[in-house]
Amino acid sequence: MPDPGPGEVLVDVQACGVCHTDLHYRDGAVTDDFPFLLGHEAAGTVAAVGEGVTGLRAGDYVVLAWRAPCGACRSCRRGRPWYCFDSRNARRPMTLLDGTPLTNALGIGAFAEKTLVAAGQAVRIDPAARPEAAGLIGCGVMAGYGAAVHTGGVGRGDSVAVIGCGGVGAAAIAGACLNGAVKVIAIDIDDRKLDQAERFGATHTVNSRGTDPVEAVRELTNGFGVDVAIDAVGRPETFLQAFSMRDHAGTLVQVGVPSPGAQVELPLLDVFSRGGAIKPSWYGDCLPSRDFPFLVDQYLNGLLDLNAFVSGTVSLDDVEDAFAKMYRGDVLRSVVVL
Ligand SMILES: [Zn+2]
Ligand SMILES: [Zn+2]
Repeated sequence: MPDPGPGEVLVDVQACGVCHTDLHYRDGAVTDDFPFLLGHEAAGTVAAVGEGVTGLRAGDYVVLAWRAPCGACRSCRRGRPWYCFDSRNARRPMTLLDGTPLTNALGIGAFAEKTLVAAGQAVRIDPAARPEAAGLIGCGVMAGYGAAVHTGGVGRGDSVAVIGCGGVGAAAIAGACLNGAVKVIAIDIDDRKLDQAERFGATHTVNSRGTDPVEAVRELTNGFGVDVAIDAVGRPETFLQAFSMRDHAGTLVQVGVPSPGAQVELPLLDVFSRGGAIKPSWYGDCLPSRDFPFLVDQYLNGLLDLNAFVSGTVSLDDVEDAFAKMYRGDVLRSVVVL
C-alpha cells in the first residue's frame, strides 16, 4: 500500500457492496489486467491525506466515487463535470506482497481494509448514515437514481417503466417516485424482484416471462406508452422493448451495461417518427460531490430507503458466496463489512 501521494487519500474501508460489475471484472469481461482488487461501493473513514489535499482530513466519513472530475478536460471546461472524460484515480497501484500491481475495479478496489484513491473520489457525507447503506450510493444506487432523474429527466406527473429490477432498476424506481412520477411500472422476469420493486414505490408490476411487456405497458397507459422507459438490463431485446413502450416524444434511457458484440436493428423511420430521445446513462450522469450528500440526506430524512437495498452483510471471506447469490438473483446487494 503506497503512502498517499499529492492529491490522494488513504481510506479505512468500513463496508463495500458486491456489485455486478465486480463479477464482470472477475470473469475477465471488463479487462484482462489480472490480478484485480475488486469492490467499488464503499463507505469508510479517511486514514491519511497526501500533500495538497484540501477539504478532507483524517477521520472524515466518506463514500467513494468512481468519477472524480479533473476540472481540466474539454467537458469539465464547458461546465459539464458529470461527463468528465479524464476522471482521476490514485496514480500508483496497490500491490501484492511480491510487488505484483493490482488493477482496482473502477479505480477503487475496496474489498480490502484500506484503499488508496484520488481525493476527488472521496466524498464527505453525514456520519449518521450507516456504512452498509451509504456505500451503495457509490455505484448502483447512484446509477439507477441518476438514470431516472438526471438522464431521463423524470418529473412531476410522468409515467415511467423500468426493465430489470435489481439494484440499479430499484434505485431508478425510487428516484422516479421521489421526483413526482405518478405511474411507475416495474418489469422483470423474477417475481421476487417485482415484490421488492413495490417496496421502492412501483405502482404496477409486469412479469415479462409470460407477458409481452410492451403490450402490458400500453394497457396500463391508455394505449399510449410511458414518458420515460429505462432499460436497466442492457440486452438487445430489453433495449427494443424500452424503445417501443414509449409514448410519442418519450425518452429511452439505457443504463444496463451491454455485453461486447451485442447489436440492435431499428427501423429508422420509427426512430424519427416517434421523436423523443435515446440516451445512455453513465453512472447516472452524476456529480458525486453534489449528489452523494444529497442522497444521504434523502436517506436520513426517510425519503430514500437505502436499507432496503442491503439484502445481507458478509465478511471479506464470503465474497464468492455473495457472487453466487447475486448470480442466482437471490439478493439486491450483499454488503461486505470490515
Ligand atoms: Zn474532466
Ligand atoms: Zn457497481
